[in-house]
Amino acid sequence: MDYNIALVGNPNVGKTSVYNKITHSFEHVGNWHGVTVEAVSKDILFEHRRITVCDLPGLYSLTVYSPEEGVSRDAVCAGDHQAIIDVCDVNDLSRNLYLTLQLLEVGAPVVLTLNMMDELSRRGQVVNYRKLEAALGLPVVPMSTKRHSEVHILLSVTVDYIEHSRHKRRELPYLKKLPTEQIKTIIEKNAEKAGIDLLYAAVKVMEDDSYVLEKLALSEEQKAGIAALGEGLQDKLAAVRYEYIDKIMDGVIMSSVADEHHEMHEHYVHDVPLTQSEREEAEKRGDEEELKHIRLHGKIKKNEDLKRRGFSGADRIFLNKYLALPLFFVIMLAVFFVTFGDYMPGYWMKTGLEWIFDNALHDPVEKGLTNVGAWNWVTGLVTDGIIDGLGGVLVFLPQIVLMFLFLALLEDSGYISRVAFMTDGLFRKIGLSGRSVFTMLMGFGCSATAVLTSRGMEDEKMRKKTVMLTPFMSCSARFPVYSAICAAYFASGKAFVIFGMYILGAAIALVYAAVLNKIKKFKSGEMSFIMEMPPYRIPTVTRVFQILWHNAKAFVIRVGTVVFAINIIVWLLSSFGVGTVDGKTVFGYCGDVQVKSFLEYFASAIAPVFAPLGFGGGEHGWQAVTALLSGLAAKEVVLSSMESFGGVDVIFGSNYCAALSFVVFTLLYVPCIATLTAIKKEAGWKWMLGGAALQLITAYVVALIFYWMGILFVYNAGAAVSIIIVLAVAAIVAAVVTHVIRTRNVCIGCPGAGSCGGSCGRKRKK
Ligand code: GDP
Ligand code: MG
Repeated sequence: MDYNIALVGNPNVGKTSVYNKITHSFEHVGNWHGVTVEAVSKDILFEHRRITVCDLPGLYSLTVYSPEEGVSRDAVCAGDHQAIIDVCDVNDLSRNLYLTLQLLEVGAPVVLTLNMMDELSRRGQVVNYRKLEAALGLPVVPMSTKRHSEVHILLSVTVDYIEHSRHKRRELPYLKKLPTEQIKTIIEKNAEKAGIDLLYAAVKVMEDDSYVLEKLALSEEQKAGIAALGEGLQDKLAAVRYEYIDKIMDGVIMSSVADEHHEMHEHYVHDVPLTQSEREEAEKRGDEEELKHIRLHGKIKKNEDLKRRGFSGADRIFLNKYLALPLFFVIMLAVFFVTFGDYMPGYWMKTGLEWIFDNALHDPVEKGLTNVGAWNWVTGLVTDGIIDGLGGVLVFLPQIVLMFLFLALLEDSGYISRVAFMTDGLFRKIGLSGRSVFTMLMGFGCSATAVLTSRGMEDEKMRKKTVMLTPFMSCSARFPVYSAICAAYFASGKAFVIFGMYILGAAIALVYAAVLNKIKKFKSGEMSFIMEMPPYRIPTVTRVFQILWHNAKAFVIRVGTVVFAINIIVWLLSSFGVGTVDGKTVFGYCGDVQVKSFLEYFASAIAPVFAPLGFGGGEHGWQAVTALLSGLAAKEVVLSSMESFGGVDVIFGSNYCAALSFVVFTLLYVPCIATLTAIKKEAGWKWMLGGAALQLITAYVVALIFYWMGILFVYNAGAAVSIIIVLAVAAIVAAVVTHVIRTRNVCIGCPGAGSCGGSCGRKRKK
């Protein structure tokens, strides 16, 4: 018996958590909207049945606004699933049911899940799910993904539902209040031809859904016929849906009798006001625009409303006008310090691993191989190529896993949503938004996966810009390079240089965003901030272990496969070569015969390009260049190949400035192939190539500046400091002057903040 079931629901209600529990997977769960960006599925065996479970991106309604929501709508409408598990957050049930009704309108076989029951009972409330069951004629399963048994029950209810053909298309009484039947008659033939469910098509016609209207291809006559049925059907439909929801919700959620004092408590746990009360408030205020928005999307539009919605006690501090940003920096600094700082947990584990690789692996293996008389090149391959190369990267495992853990905890607790919220205004000025902050912060973990999180952004240009600029954020694979080089060259200022790299990458991304937004072709469109503010959630211990385990496994697999393979290829190409010895052409291992390796020929040819940056020239220049080239496969290889060439100190000798310029170049140059592929997928060829070129040029120029400023600093520190001060002052003066010029002629209330040059026709300020 093979069944297909899909998980559908609003964003951030726990669909992926249910999916992970059912399928024993580790898909990305996050406490914010837009984590799942494409459909993922897996086959499981459940009581002798094979079930394909599919997790879909969240959506509020079947009228979609972003590509990822389209994926879900198509999956629901295709009708390939024997059951659709509609996951609802029981704490925000009215709003969630808005989608449920639409699923019923399409005639989907819905099993309703009331998730997050734990949060509801913590607030002292209970749910009479039988009442909902009776009203909607569906199986309703209250549950929490925290409890395994309840997930099991959900599956068994679903299978029972499928096998006993309990699915019957229900009549939805509220549709009778609208001219549904008339519309059905008008569009019947078109819907059949387009292969769209008739009732669904009729509903979408009322909603003026461009996607369905296009498919139906109605004639002018039909359109006129529909128009004659009345105006504002869209609003009326939303209104009757909500009216119906209010009716069936009556008495479903109650205060638990045993816990009466919680009722009071509820008043100040204001993270989940129901849509109903929001609507009442908006009605009181007479805010037509918001009313319409709530009716259409059931989601909140304005920043102030968002604040009201998600505001909780802790936000008085975290979202405080003055404290928010400094707190964010303090939190990030603390994360970096604990992860990368000396004498911190990550540091001890790294030191331990280093000792193991050097003393317990490298030396004994080398001795053993020499003793048995293994060929020199085999000994070299095993000790230098494999143990040193991979070991050099693997020792960073604890620190990288810690970094991912902290990012995941910040994300899971709901804090990153706050960061997005508070930086939204700031980012908007440069054509990005709070949503871009998510993607960019995730870039500190892995650029390739961060790029995928941009899927939910509604403004295309902004989305593409975010995708292109995300690789400037220093991903965790680059950290080992900084760390190894800094330990060798800047031991005392190590933390400063490393943190500096993170700031430098982020600053360059922001400067580019600002510059691009000044160019008409790249300017982002205006859009409202429609992001959910999730409640704060404390991640569980199991979750912490899951994150640790999953990331450690992913890192080891990556080092064991991609990095391992590339490293061996690089080692072989850099250790074997041809050349002439005593007038004879010989081929062999460079350790045995005096010949140049294949890579040395190749990399030496391009190395001069990097000579102005300090690391392309000299005897070891080709090695630095090789490391950068092989780093395109995966950034970890930059370090692993340098380690197999004998270590960073061999390559840069005593040239501090070259080492610094190399670090800067590594931060900024073209991202790895996986990231490039992700960018191509998300934004297309042009943005990928443009982005890669931009990064390469930026890396070259910035590394050049760092190198020569470094040289100047070594020879004449006073001059270097003076130049920096003069440049900083000049930049400030230039900024002030342009600001003054721009605001001198500002029109009052100019929509372009003065940039219209008077064309907006408003009065100018005297
Ligand atoms: P999705 O967007 O619907 O896929 O939701 P996720 O599975 O990514 O979960 C969103 C957030 O809700 C995460 O922080 C989860 O840890 C949290 N979450 C999921 N299920 C539950 C639950 O049953 N109880 C509580 N308290 N939190 C949950
Ligand atoms: Mg998800």
